[in-house]
Amino acid sequence: MNLREAIEEKALNLGLTNLKITHGKPFLSERALLQERLQMGLLTATAAGNIITRTDPELALPGAASIICAALPYKFSQDIRQENRLARYARLRDYHAVLGSAMEDLAKLIQIEQPAAQFRISVDTGPLVERAAACRAGVGYIGKNCSLITQNHGSFVLLGALLTTVALPADEPLPTRICGTCRACLDACPTGALEAPYTLRETACLSYLTQKKGWIPREYRTLIKEKLWGCDVCQDVCPYNQLQPAPDLTLWNTEDDTIFLPDLHTILRWGNKEYRTALQMSALYWRGRTVLQRNALLMLGNRHNGEDAAAIAACLRDPRPVIRGHAAWALGEIQTGLAQQRLLQALEHEKDKNVQEEMKSALQV
Ligand code: SF4
Ligand code: SF4
Repeated sequence: MNLREAIEEKALNLGLTNLKITHGKPFLSERALLQERLQMGLLTATAAGNIITRTDPELALPGAASIICAALPYKFSQDIRQENRLARYARLRDYHAVLGSAMEDLAKLIQIEQPAAQFRISVDTGPLVERAAACRAGVGYIGKNCSLITQNHGSFVLLGALLTTVALPADEPLPTRICGTCRACLDACPTGALEAPYTLRETACLSYLTQKKGWIPREYRTLIKEKLWGCDVCQDVCPYNQLQPAPDLTLWNTEDDTIFLPDLHTILRWGNKEYRTALQMSALYWRGRTVLQRNALLMLGNRHNGEDAAAIAACLRDPRPVIRGHAAWALGEIQTGLAQQRLLQALEHEKDKNVQEEMKSALQV
């Protein structure tokens, strides 16, 4: 068995699929595209990162000769036990750790044969644009929804890249695009963030908005509907995701690694300790509890249920302006007598200008 075959076998045993390899040359067309999109305001600065660094493997790992790309499927039949309020990837133990550790195992295998080899792992937060690497390596195609779509597991896959100084035979990109005349994702996107095929305005994407810190622009609050974290709409409607078999669960144990969240009222009452206990093994944890509690308030506002008014009104006393402000918005959506009364009382004492504005807008004064 040669090194390539050994890597493929190890990847399969680890639960990774679609292992492909590309060379370590820069991603020049991706760089130009990222720069253009950043200038057009389609990309957030965080998402763009350092464009030059992210598109030059040599800067991420001096002497980078190959990039080993692999996919980790994450759509399971057990998903039915979970509500759709979390994006699928967030219903499982943090993939950065799970996928990162699998990529590390591949590196260890190579190092046995090539002790001088250098490596760098890139899993989402890493130095490289993994999707471009996966596309160039032939792991899948980029669909009109801007996700990488694999032929066997659709787009519900997480991507890992392992840069190495070892020169391995490179694969070719897949030959054709696959969407044809389909535009289901563009039609289904709740915010119009998919402005055109292959063009995503990140600042309008619910996946970004539900993860960002701070205030959610008012025009998006009702569109968030029942989303507590992330958005899978443009992937859920994709025909390539309809008939995917449940993947081989060698990396996740769905009993131990599934994230279960309590009801929204409980989430609103969380202190740091409860938040840590519930989410410390999750990919959401790094964002902190305020983002999740803010989103919970938006979900409650969107439910328009008078029985939620007291729980939301309790947040008007929260020390964090962003929580008070979104609570005011949610009460404005509910519009019961209790909601109005609590808003009026809170407005008398509110010092923060943004929160005052939210309260006035909710009271329509
Ligand atoms: S993730 Fe949601 S909001 Fe973002 S492009 Fe897809 S459907 Fe639209
Ligand atoms: S929904 Fe249709 S257009 Fe969108 S990515 Fe899937 S196949 Fe392509």
